[in-house]
Amino acid sequence: AKRNGKNFYKTYEPNMTLEIFKRLETEREMMNAINEEQFEVYYQPQVNINTNEVVGLEALIRWNHPTKGLINPDDFIPIAEELRLIIPLGEFVFHRSCQQVQTLIDENLFNGYLSINVSGVQIERGNFVEFVKDSLGKTLFEPTKIELEITESVIMNDTKSWIDVLNNLKSIGCKVAIDDFGKGYSSLTHLSNLPIDKIKIDKAFIDDISETQNSRLITEIVMFLAKKMDLTPFAEGVESEVQRDILMSLGCEFVQGYFFSKPKSFNDIKNWLKSVRD
Ligand code: C2E
Ligand code: CA
Ligand code: CA
Ligand code: CA
Repeated sequence: AKRNGKNFYKTYEPNMTLEIFKRLETEREMMNAINEEQFEVYYQPQVNINTNEVVGLEALIRWNHPTKGLINPDDFIPIAEELRLIIPLGEFVFHRSCQQVQTLIDENLFNGYLSINVSGVQIERGNFVEFVKDSLGKTLFEPTKIELEITESVIMNDTKSWIDVLNNLKSIGCKVAIDDFGKGYSSLTHLSNLPIDKIKIDKAFIDDISETQNSRLITEIVMFLAKKMDLTPFAEGVESEVQRDILMSLGCEFVQGYFFSKPKSFNDIKNWLKSVRD
């Protein structure tokens, strides 16, 4: 090899080959996992802290890997997005969660909405709305009981095509929530023009809401802003009673977090719903 600058060596670095190899391996494993149905939807309750009522369930994907065990989404969603495998995966989560939550509704165990995370890749693809309509038709799930969670990073992206997508989803009755709010750099002017219904304040602010004056202040401001804009403020990552009490005092009604329940498998959430009902 000739010595023509750093770039040459950078391009052919051995661990980069390893990176590519690992990626191919993951791609092969994930495609196989979809076919073999190794993915599973977990559910985490969303509650009204004033009434303790379970108002929603968020669908969160898990990978039951045959040798590595249960893998959390942060370890495979980014790769799935890059490989566009998030499209079949996202469709699986949507369809399966509608089917499963419908049975909870039929059995009178639950009467709230179903929150589903949607990746920017799914929205950009073009036929997302068609897929949603088709899936809702097949599962007989009520569109007004669907809430789609889209991260702030996607919403604040320059491409505006997703605004039409969100408007179409809203026209069939679905709700839209902006997820991980405050993490990125949302423009407030922009926020007021978006077709959204709810703001989920990022967990990072709730994490130190009891210790840091700033986090509490930011939460308070977002809460105020949301209410003024006719959006529902929501806090995620509530782990303690102290955090819950602060949120209550700030007038935040709707929360989610380990303090109430961790995400659970379908069978476990079913039993949990039975236990809170009784
Ligand atoms: P997210 O949408 O912000 O989901 C909330 C995450 O915080 C979940 O992690 C949940 O288990 C966790 N969490 C909830 N309450 C608490 C708490 O009190 N303490 C702590 N420490 N954590 C809490 P999870 O399930 O590992 O999901 C991570 C991320 O993966 C999600 O963040 C979401 O961005 C993504 N994700 C999960 N399922 C899907 C999916 O079906 N599609 C897409 N596109 N993304 C998904
Ligand atoms: Ca979410
Ligand atoms: Ca979030
Ligand atoms: Ca997140």
